[in-house]
Amino acid sequence: MRAFQLVEWQKPPQLREVLVPEPGPGQVLVKIGGAGACHSDLHIMQAPVPPPGNGMRLPFTLGHENAGWVEKLGPGVTGFAPDDPVIVYGPWGCGLCANCRRGRENYCQKTGGRGGGLGGHDGGMAEYLLVPASRFLIPLGTLDPREAAPLTDAGLTSYHAVKRSLHLLGPGSAAVVIGAGGLGQMAIQILRALSAATTIVAVDTATDKLDTAKRLGADEALLSGDQAVTRVKDMTHQQGAQLVLDMVGLDPTLRMAAQMARALGHLTIVGLGGGALPVNFSSPPHECSVAAPYWGSLPELIDVIALARQRKVRMLVEHFPLARVAEAYQLLQDGKIQGRAVITPQM
Ligand code: NAD
Ligand code: ZN
Ligand code: ZN
Repeated sequence: MRAFQLVEWQKPPQLREVLVPEPGPGQVLVKIGGAGACHSDLHIMQAPVPPPGNGMRLPFTLGHENAGWVEKLGPGVTGFAPDDPVIVYGPWGCGLCANCRRGRENYCQKTGGRGGGLGGHDGGMAEYLLVPASRFLIPLGTLDPREAAPLTDAGLTSYHAVKRSLHLLGPGSAAVVIGAGGLGQMAIQILRALSAATTIVAVDTATDKLDTAKRLGADEALLSGDQAVTRVKDMTHQQGAQLVLDMVGLDPTLRMAAQMARALGHLTIVGLGGGALPVNFSSPPHECSVAAPYWGSLPELIDVIALARQRKVRMLVEHFPLARVAEAYQLLQDGKIQGRAVITPQM
């Protein structure tokens, strides 16, 4: 089969011929319907050579946002049948540590929640994906894997980041989403679906992303910079927003986030831009909590699928055949993807 693999650090990945994996006991082979191109893949492609002994091995197939159809069950697997449409929960935990037993495999104490496509296991930018345990598969029902794939990362990560702050988002509250790309667009819809009472503000450097953000439910769409801070302050009687989600994570967006957040609020860093947030007595505001959540839990993915079934969230997807996967990533890098590029190896 063809697979899009990182073969050398800091070199462009390659579309290569590899063997179709054979599912062992407890494992499932999934025929990929859609594999979403996440901005994190660009960070991985540009990352420095990792230190030895951290579990990263080359080559590996990229793609951690996967959905498709069950192709083959390994010995002992029950509960699924060939051709069942499924979405793949991405952070593959051990299943046995305290966090995994609570469903939080994204914080597995053994694996760190690193799943396929992130350096330890092969991912889904290929015709088939080997999933190490059937509990990582959630049935999609009537949802199309080619449309649904981004729900498992862009959707789940945004859902988790919003959910942990919902108690702050009562009537009259405000939430700011910095970076209205794949994740930001999901976050806006999830905020809309879960908290009708919140004023949602989208901030981006690109006007087309801001237009999309408004169509998806943002009340205000602001160009990134000092004037956006002033506007958020004016909207909130100079108090700032209860929740600021930074889906970019660069120095300037983190600085903006600290200025937009209010005392007792949440400043949530989701973007892996590599910036740093200065913290001192007066900034971020008093008792504003800063957290950097990673992905989401397995039960939360079930919630996200339910939201998609109810048509409360949908991803704007642009489909690319596997032969054009490198081009899809280049378009993402250039800011030319509205929503998510999804690779469809079977089309
Ligand atoms: P994307 O490329 O689809 O979207 C990024 C958006 O940010 C674009 O709309 C871009 O115009 C905007 N942007 C860039 N610079 C900006 C600035 N200075 N101010 C405001 N907006 C700006 O990317 P994505 O796939 O949505 O991913 C977003 C980030 O989230 C990436 O860093 C990715 O690695 C990270 N991520 C984190 C997790 C996690 O678990 N924490 C999970 C998935 C992705
Ligand atoms: Zn991702
Ligand atoms: Zn675990």
